[in-house]
Formats: sequence, C-alpha cells, structure tokens
Amino acid sequence: MCGVSNNRCQKKLKDCQACDICKLLDDSYTTPTFAVADLQCAGKPSWGCSGVTTAGKGQLDFDRRFCDDPALLDKFANTLIHESAHHCKAIGGGNITEGGGECSAKSIADECTK
Ligand SMILES: [Zn+2]
Repeated sequence: MCGVSNNRCQKKLKDCQACDICKLLDDSYTTPTFAVADLQCAGKPSWGCSGVTTAGKGQLDFDRRFCDDPALLDKFANTLIHESAHHCKAIGGGNITEGGGECSAKSIADECTK
C-alpha cells in the first residue's frame, strides 16, 4: 500500500482529505499501543479504540483476540487502518470520525481492505 499513490486505498484517503496512514504505521510514529482483553470503546465492545492520553498523546488499544486467532487477520488489518485513520488529525490530516458517511473511519477501512 505504502509508496503507491494511486491505489484505491490511498485514493480514498486523499478524497477524504484524511492523511497518508503509512506515516502512522511506520516506526517513526510511536503511539502507545495495548492489547486489551474484552476491549470496550465508549462503553461498547470493540475490536479497536483510539484515544488520547491525559498527556495529549495518541493511544491505540486493540482486542487481545487479534494476538491469538490467525483467522482474525483480515479483521485486524481493517481495524488497524480504521484506528490509524482516526489519528490523521495528529499529523495534520483531516478529522476522521465514526460519522462522515463515505469518509468515516469505517468507510475508509472497508475500502482499503475489500
Ligand atoms: Zn472508530
């Protein structure tokens, strides 16, 4: 995906004025990331959750089941892109939320992993 500017995932990110999520997924952007058993996000069971620490730094949590079940690999990829899209704003990109219709985090992640 990274380095190819015209694939459908990068096109979707660009059309949504999100960001190049490759910058969030490489080793230079260090975000505290935790594997959490029975993860909840905003009070609801969730595969991934993006938040901000009290120090104002981004934080990612993923459900621990991704660590144990290889059958969840596609779901993990989708969740990784979904949560990364939420962090675009931190690197100067758009504010990608759950809302936003065609430019929601879900819509972006689904386009990137279909
Ligand atoms: Zn989300």
